[in-house]
Amino acid sequence: MTKKHSKRVIFRSVVWVMLPITILVGWFYPILGFMVLFCMFSGITIAFFKGKFWCAWLCPRGSFLDKFVSPFSLKGSGHSFLQSNILRIIVLILLMSLMGLQVYRAWPNVSDIGTVMVILLTATTLLAVLLGTFLHPRSWCIICPVGTVSGWISNSRSKKKK
Ligand code: SF4
Repeated sequence: MTKKHSKRVIFRSVVWVMLPITILVGWFYPILGFMVLFCMFSGITIAFFKGKFWCAWLCPRGSFLDKFVSPFSLKGSGHSFLQSNILRIIVLILLMSLMGLQVYRAWPNVSDIGTVMVILLTATTLLAVLLGTFLHPRSWCIICPVGTVSGWISNSRSKKKK
């Protein structure tokens, strides 16, 4: 195992814990919901410098899916329909519009905004676990808005390098 690989294993064996903490404790301390914004911002910002490093190394939900859903996943190939760019764009627009609308309604109450984030995180994680169980462990990652945007950034970085 290379040094880089073992570092990645260590990171990923720790970061997943942020997902259940944010979901479970977030209902009582909604401020934790802001972790969602932090993760979105980090994933997209890191993509400008290191491509999909966030998804591969640091994303709590990605690590959670690998650690807890992968062992039970049917790991079929039926998730290819998720790979359509149109579907990715639809999910991105739908989720961002829903988040924007709910934050607008909750504004300026910090606690309510945090609750909006916790609800969205809980709902999308349930969907990720269902997709991961019946399709492929990382099926959600194909349509995840952060994964979609960081993928676009990462692709345009590699094109520029060529
Ligand atoms: S695609 Fe989304 S859920 Fe998957 S690892 Fe990346 S940021 Fe996390």
